[in-house]
Amino acid sequence: GHKAYQFMLRTKNPSGKVPNRLYLVMDDLADQFGIGTLRLTTRQTFQLHGVLKQNLKTVMSTIIKNMGSTLGACGDLNRNVLAPAAPYKGRKEYIYAQETAEKLAALLAPQGGAYYDLWVDGEKAMSADSPDVIDALNDNSHGTNFEGSPEPIYGIQFLPRKFKIAVTVPGDNSVDVLTNDVGLVTICNNDGELQGFDILVGGGMGRTHRMEATFPRLAEPLGYVPKEDILYAVKAIVATQRDYGRRDDRRMSRMKYLLDDWGIEKFRSVVEQYYGKPFQPFKELPPWEFQSYLGWHEQGDGHLFFGLHVENGRIKGEMKKALRRVIEKYELNVRITPNQNIILCDIRPSWRSRITKALAGVGLLSPRFVDPLHLSAMACPALPLCPLAIAEAERGAPDILQRIRDMFERVGLRASDSLVVRVTGCPNGCARPYMAELGLVGDGPNSYQIWLGGSPNQTRLAETFMERVKLQNLEAVLEPLFHLWRRDRQTGEAFGDFTHKLGFAVLKDYIDTYKGPNK
Ligand code: SF4
Repeated sequence: GHKAYQFMLRTKNPSGKVPNRLYLVMDDLADQFGIGTLRLTTRQTFQLHGVLKQNLKTVMSTIIKNMGSTLGACGDLNRNVLAPAAPYKGRKEYIYAQETAEKLAALLAPQGGAYYDLWVDGEKAMSADSPDVIDALNDNSHGTNFEGSPEPIYGIQFLPRKFKIAVTVPGDNSVDVLTNDVGLVTICNNDGELQGFDILVGGGMGRTHRMEATFPRLAEPLGYVPKEDILYAVKAIVATQRDYGRRDDRRMSRMKYLLDDWGIEKFRSVVEQYYGKPFQPFKELPPWEFQSYLGWHEQGDGHLFFGLHVENGRIKGEMKKALRRVIEKYELNVRITPNQNIILCDIRPSWRSRITKALAGVGLLSPRFVDPLHLSAMACPALPLCPLAIAEAERGAPDILQRIRDMFERVGLRASDSLVVRVTGCPNGCARPYMAELGLVGDGPNSYQIWLGGSPNQTRLAETFMERVKLQNLEAVLEPLFHLWRRDRQTGEAFGDFTHKLGFAVLKDYIDTYKGPNK
């Protein structure tokens, strides 16, 4: 009945940038045409749920006219390009990463014009195409362009499947770089000037239950390209997936399966034919670290930014009103992080205490007052908003986190002890549960697969530990594991590293013989 005519709409915001005006407009639209809440996503975008069909055009054109876009936020093409959300003005590598994200978004946006015809009567309200993007778009060396189609890169039938790109700087894994089809890392010289990019390929989270041929996969090194070649190199990768990615089975059509099928050597040599030259060797990178940017930071231009934890990325109620008042009053630009949090930018130091107070009044606290379990946790929207969901995620997460904190207390862990928990309502894995230290993936009503062994900096895949664990039975599985971790861990050893080291057989034995925290 009624439900079939409601739409979910996603914006496109490369590196999560949201100009002040766009934030205010989205806040209004959520009230006027949505369900009164704004949802921040793991791809640094807004989602508006519950838009009625007859209001779609109004909503879309309002977004476009206010410096936003929804172009390419869904469908079988390049999705929102991630980059670190931190608005550092004094750290050039961050600015390079963010600029590159914007260029890639422009390069890989649909070019046909049908989108603007549909939503704003042909008026192209937003165009950020820089000369190098236009050159790369028009370049047809080595068959990267599709002949005779208004879509030079995508051709007549777009890509076999959605395509995800992240750009970051060495060491900063705020973007979960290894989970993307393409990951780019800025390489600068000693003066901080951009030289080129390391390229990783073949990551992806989605899988299908009881289909062994589908699996999450980490991106792996492809090579290095000088900065002037980056758009051509990415275009060559996209053209390779366009021409060779599987189109007969959607479940096997992400680029990671092409990588798995061919291996990196063959993949590299095919991409090189489109690119027109060999890739240079991948440059060595420092270890990855997770960055949240929560709390107060110097922007580097005399202003401050404040990273605010938003539970499950859901902005609603009094908190939504207070956030809007602050953003409107101080004319703040904002950024959405890949962890579904929000960054308030361009804050004068003299505003700091007033802003802190206004937000604390509605429960938006500085991170040091929030349980660390909540700060690193993620859950996807799932029930009742996502048609693919088979179990709760967003709605169930607060209770699950509380139960984990209670178990921690029973087994003698400290209030500062934490781990990365990610919950999704289906194996599609939008909240990237396969990178978590504890991933819960819905596999039936009130039932979850338990994934363990991911690392706290999101560089190692978790593995399926148990299946079809009923929600009410979580304690029976998890409490023994937390107890063992508290008892036997090395100093500072993360839960994910600990479970990975011990192996699942040892963990399962311990669960079977566990007699309570005091035994
Ligand atoms: Fe929907 Fe599944 Fe994605 Fe959750 S993980 S939002 S249930 S598709």
